[in-house]
Amino acid sequence: MRIVIIGNGISGITAAKTLRQLSDHEIIVISDESELFFSRTALMYVFMGHMRVQDIVPHPKSFYEQHNIKLHFGRVNTVQFEHKQVEFNDNHTLAYDKLIIATGSKPTMYGWPGSHLDGVHNLYHLQDLENIERHAETCKHAVIVGGGLIGIELAEMLHSRAIQVTMLVRESGYWNNVLPAEESEILNKHISEQGIDLQLQTELKEIWGDKEKVKMILTSNGAKINTQLVGITTGVQPNISFLDFTSIEKNRGLLTNSFLETSIPDVYAIGDCAELRNPTKGRKAVEPVWYTGRMMGELVAHNILGAQKAYDPGIWFNSAKFFDIEYQVYGFVPNQEMPGIKHIFWKHPSKNKSIRLVYEEKTGTILGFNLLGIRYRQEVCEKWIAEETSIETVLQNLSLANFDPEFFKSYEKHLVHIYNEQSGAKLKLQSNGRLSQVLTFLKHS
Ligand SMILES: Cc1cc2nc3c(=O)[nH]c(=O)nc-3n(C[C@H](O)[C@H](O)[C@H](O)COP(=O)(O)OP(=O)(O)OC[C@H]3O[C@@H](n4cnc5c(N)ncnc54)[C@H](O)[C@@H]3O)c2cc1C
Repeated sequence: MRIVIIGNGISGITAAKTLRQLSDHEIIVISDESELFFSRTALMYVFMGHMRVQDIVPHPKSFYEQHNIKLHFGRVNTVQFEHKQVEFNDNHTLAYDKLIIATGSKPTMYGWPGSHLDGVHNLYHLQDLENIERHAETCKHAVIVGGGLIGIELAEMLHSRAIQVTMLVRESGYWNNVLPAEESEILNKHISEQGIDLQLQTELKEIWGDKEKVKMILTSNGAKINTQLVGITTGVQPNISFLDFTSIEKNRGLLTNSFLETSIPDVYAIGDCAELRNPTKGRKAVEPVWYTGRMMGELVAHNILGAQKAYDPGIWFNSAKFFDIEYQVYGFVPNQEMPGIKHIFWKHPSKNKSIRLVYEEKTGTILGFNLLGIRYRQEVCEKWIAEETSIETVLQNLSLANFDPEFFKSYEKHLVHIYNEQSGAKLKLQSNGRLSQVLTFLKHS
């Protein structure tokens, strides 16, 4: 059997490696970006000089030869599903028995005048990094459009080269379409303190050039900003437009059932480009994050070989870094007040640290954790959420989640105090979170 995989990102390459571990089938991986798989999440560290390109490539070419995984560099133009073959942009074709589509995301562009100019960049592909590198050499002032996770990475990258950075953010606070107002406020301040000119409630209107090179931008507030580099980081969307004129069912992404099968027999979609028809509770239909790509890659391999296992990524979690502040989220943390949902929020009086616990008012069940500048144990938070633990039990045992129970003890007291004030309860802290207690807790339900 010949299995063809379009895309050699984390999802496609995980599928290839898992298939090879489990079978002797012919495996061909196609990519138009780089022959070898690399860690997209580490692109910023290459730019900042913390890593070399070879450090973010986990396997040398010999790995694929040794494991008999064929790499095929080229761009797929379309898939002729009725003939079970992929067609490349030079018109040659490749037949498959099973096809895995793992083509990732593409940056969302809003058609601003001047987007075509030299000096306008996204941050997604290796080639983007090369282009940004080329312009950064002579850039004095960069403008980043969009206030998400990639925007902040690009701001940090350019800032590390002593380039003045302006960030235009449409919302009233950084990433406040995801983060609650208090966390967003901490980040607004932190970003500004780094020397970034953070312009909230401001959009890009036009990019102006001189001899096809970026020269200036116009904002929605009418301001003109001289710039040599414009970074567009206004989100990503599933990269599936090459299948526009085919019969495969799609919405935002390629629609799949829980076995990751698309509407076409023998064709699967995984990673950022897939959209689940029925996501599990607390999860989104499209989740452009690294670990879900890896999970899907493993699962699809098993399913192609006959396992028929349903995709279940468990409790939502994500993490990021905003300059010096680490961020973690577990479970459900809405960015706004919602009926029936209660929040306990504590913020350090002077440091960039905050903890938010979210629970259901009626049942008292813990729903989620949001952390800035403080790390909690993933296994502990997930177990509490999965087992629908009461907020009071969580509060009394919070130190089980801490990495450094002694250091964080005082924060827990504050949270218990806030809860007591909000609810009229008289809770006290119980366990002290020694590692032995954490391990015992994780062993027993
Ligand atoms: C700068 C940046 C930082 C990130 N940081 C994080 C992070 O910290 N944590 C996290 O969880 N996630 C992060 N992400 C998101 C994460 O990288 C993605 O979720 C993940 O890479 C998606 O993997 P994938 O295998 O689905 O697709 P991709 O990694 O996009 O791989 C798809 C590959 O398919 C190729 N391809 C597409 N179409 C075709 C075609 N027609 N023909 C041939 N080849 C094609 C593409 O060129 C690409 O090489 C980050 C993303 C970016 C851009």
